[in-house]
Amino acid sequence: MKIDITPLMNKRAEKADFEFGFDPASSEGGAILPEDVTVVAPVKVSGTVYDMNNCMSLKANVTVNYKTLCDRCLDEIEGTLEFEIEKTVSVDEAPEGFEDDPTYDDVVFVNESSLDIDAALTEEIALRLPPYHLCREDCPGLCPKCGKKRIEGGCTCKNEKEIDPRLKILQKLLDNFD
Ligand SMILES: [Zn+2]
Ligand SMILES: [Zn+2]
Repeated sequence: MKIDITPLMNKRAEKADFEFGFDPASSEGGAILPEDVTVVAPVKVSGTVYDMNNCMSLKANVTVNYKTLCDRCLDEIEGTLEFEIEKTVSVDEAPEGFEDDPTYDDVVFVNESSLDIDAALTEEIALRLPPYHLCREDCPGLCPKCGKKRIEGGCTCKNEKEIDPRLKILQKLLDNFD
């Protein structure tokens, strides 16, 4: 999505508000999002570009709704990621390979009086998504024996709980006794 900053470039305004939605899946040149996460489009973005006399800065709030699977029981879960970004806006020509240069991590470049921050946003989303997902903090996951969800009581191995090895010896003794 292009943010028009012509009024700022012409010094006719000190700030420009913007609000838009975008789909990271169709944004070009952005980071690759983790395969196990499906971002529900549109990602909501709202913010302001400020003219600070000799430079410009951008602040935005981003809300991402996504779907993924619980790492333990594979149930589908929904999550929301909310964060704020702050970038320096540069009117210089973007140098070659700036996407991979950490020096420019917090810089977005103006292109013909407009700003396109989709790729920068996608990168932020990829960085900020949690490294693991659980349907609930204490999700018991799947039974390693039968593969069923432990939480739904569908697992029939429940009674064969792991017996303490010390008790196992005792059990053996008792069995021999019979
Ligand atoms: Zn789970
Ligand atoms: Zn089981």
